[in-house]
Amino acid sequence: MQQVDVVIVGAGASGLMCAATAGYRGRSVLVLEHTAKIGRKILMSGGGRCNFANIHNSPANFISQNPHFCKSALSRYSAQDFIDLVDRHGVEYHEKTLGQLFCNDSSKEILRVLMTECEWAGVEIRTNTEVHQLKQSPNGFQLQTSNGNISATSVVIATGGLSIPNGGATSFAYDIATEYGLTVLPRSASLVPFTLQPKDKEVLSELSGVSHQVRASIGHTSFVEMMLFTHRGLSGPAILQISNYWQPGEEVEIDLFPGFDLLSWLKEQRDSRPKADITTIMAQQMSKRMAQILCGKFELTGALGNLSNKQLEAINTAFCHWRIKPSGTEGYRTAEVTLGGIDTDEINQKTMQAKKVEGLYFIGECLDVTGHLGGHNFNWAWASGFAAGQAV
Ligand code: FAD
Repeated sequence: MQQVDVVIVGAGASGLMCAATAGYRGRSVLVLEHTAKIGRKILMSGGGRCNFANIHNSPANFISQNPHFCKSALSRYSAQDFIDLVDRHGVEYHEKTLGQLFCNDSSKEILRVLMTECEWAGVEIRTNTEVHQLKQSPNGFQLQTSNGNISATSVVIATGGLSIPNGGATSFAYDIATEYGLTVLPRSASLVPFTLQPKDKEVLSELSGVSHQVRASIGHTSFVEMMLFTHRGLSGPAILQISNYWQPGEEVEIDLFPGFDLLSWLKEQRDSRPKADITTIMAQQMSKRMAQILCGKFELTGALGNLSNKQLEAINTAFCHWRIKPSGTEGYRTAEVTLGGIDTDEINQKTMQAKKVEGLYFIGECLDVTGHLGGHNFNWAWASGFAAGQAV
């Protein structure tokens, strides 16, 4: 039986960071990956350019039942620490918007950084290896795998969430947590496009491919970013962000004119162009096609000069407080992350060790810590991986 100090299950973002960190501390580290390819989500992230960090990252960018849980790990491994790492490896990158850092060239560079670090730290990575059983033993754990049995003092579960099931995602982390008596909170697909009710879909799919800056809100939470109409429903950063806060059956409020006083502008237009039709007027603020479809949907017609203040207020409400009830989301097939997961009350916030099970650690997306869009989920993967790597 092979004996190592640390087995890490899952060769993704958090697992590779944890492996290198533990390896540099002199631990013998073996990473087990059940697919043939490591770091698959890193490669597909950020449209192939990996939005690997957000310079404005803070605990406020995470959703969790315990919003304080992520603080310790994030303070010990910040966005700047990861930036310093990629700088040392000569990766070129740029800030796209809102503090989001992307590789200039390809996501492959981030994976190369992590693989190089693992190599330098003496980490062994074994692909095509399934863990059939994880049992506690007097010295730690015994793992039965498709490539033989292994004994380890510590085991780190870094198998991520459920999104992109045909890319290697499994429920392994949740299953192990449940097996060891840890609470797993409800999970759902998140950072995910909305699908629409048939009535809305029929009309709005005609705008497929059109994007527009909006404020998307649920209650007091809102995001001002781009929204994209798709043939299935609504997508784009504003929608993905608000999907983290959405519950089935809830409405989402869309303001198509964030920061713009549409009502005053409409009144001015009524004074200066009383004969102009409302669709023609709205086409000054959005594409003609969008104005036609939305004025049709909101049943707005007629010359501006014939519209009372009350009618203009109704138009303002239609465009700035548009309430949409999604029929659902596109689900794990296209979601970037899994919301919810292993209850952080079960985990030591400094080490990521399960409080009830000595030597068993959980890191990354499988925990109930979900970041906003924009590099925050990788910030969490690096920080939680580093925390466990320092502790094992
Ligand atoms: P992962 O990186 O998913 O790694 C888990 C690893 O475990 C995988 O290699 C998987 O194959 C392996 N595994 C699973 N089950 C088993 C098992 N039973 N046995 C062995 N191995 C197993 N976040 C950002 O911050 N910026 C972005 O630009 C960004 N873009 C994204 C784009 C897409 C399309 C997707 C899907 C996600 C994106 N994310 C992005 C989210 C980010 O990729 C994840 O939050 C992050 O990878 C989570 O890290 P992790 O280590 O927890 O899991």
